[in-house]
Amino acid sequence: MPGFVSLVDQKRPVRLLTAALSSGNLPHAFLFTGIEGIGKKTAAMAFAMACNCFNLQKGPQAKQSDSIPASVPAEFSQIEPCGRCRSCKKIISGNHPDIILVTPAGAMIKVDQIRALCSKLVLKPYEASKRFAIIIGAQKLNPEAGNTLLKTLEEPPEHTVFILTALQASDILPTIVSRCQQIRFNPIPLNSLQTYIENAYGLDPAEASAIASMAGGSITCAESMTKSNWIDKRDWIIEEVEALPSRSINLCLAFSEALSKNREWLFTAFEIIKNWLRDIVVYKYIPEKIINKDLTEQIKASSKKATVNSLILKIKAIEKAERDIKSNSNLRLTLDSLMITLSKGY
Ligand SMILES: [Zn+2]
Repeated sequence: MPGFVSLVDQKRPVRLLTAALSSGNLPHAFLFTGIEGIGKKTAAMAFAMACNCFNLQKGPQAKQSDSIPASVPAEFSQIEPCGRCRSCKKIISGNHPDIILVTPAGAMIKVDQIRALCSKLVLKPYEASKRFAIIIGAQKLNPEAGNTLLKTLEEPPEHTVFILTALQASDILPTIVSRCQQIRFNPIPLNSLQTYIENAYGLDPAEASAIASMAGGSITCAESMTKSNWIDKRDWIIEEVEALPSRSINLCLAFSEALSKNREWLFTAFEIIKNWLRDIVVYKYIPEKIINKDLTEQIKASSKKATVNSLILKIKAIEKAERDIKSNSNLRLTLDSLMITLSKGY
């Protein structure tokens, strides 16, 4: 289901883009900013499709197109590419010669990539009425690539629209930013993200709520958590943390060893433990505000026996361990010392 309709809760960017399209007066370049995984690239592709669609769906009837489910709010579908014409199909399959995508090669977008792009833009578009040069992750343009791009933006080729996506405008050369119309994409609101995960992956509402709360408003983050069985990993960590006070020191240190073996995941584990302890505090005052809603019964039980002071001490110990590990202190020693703090009773 490509098109604007596949975006989750990005009403304002869609409104700005469809207004630009309706006015027929497109800027030469856009800069889409916002965190990873909220639909910047999807919006860029939808816009390229809409600008070249042979059968653009306009007005309230856009909603009645059979490619758009009736559940989609009307404001999302005032203008939609049809998804079925020759141009739309080529864009969807990635085979449109005038929709040119540049993505980082490793850590950077290199000058050769931008030179190759610019040499294509010297020629006339093959078939599109509006050609699109879409640069994903423009914060990764190296300085030389940025300056080469700037030269092209200063004398923009005809019938061509640039779309740059980036985390924030401050990561891009100000001279580039000043030539773009900036559109900010907001993190996806919690409720929308929860509903999306529930519907797309068939999760139960409480589990979807826990994932949405941890995903920081990012769809791709929530999706990768769902696909990698994040709930199971979380359950394992919480079980271990809850068991620490009743365990021998050797078993406590075994948990620290297990955590140390997956450094990539370590900071996620810290977040999980902090949120768990936070939930136990929060349950005492505003139970409806807990994050791990699917574990309400366990949180309730722990909350009865825990004191706020002991929970805060533990949360502070985790924060200190995070800082120490980031500043390269000995990983095992830091984790061992943290486990000893966490193994003290509530
Ligand atoms: Zn179309």
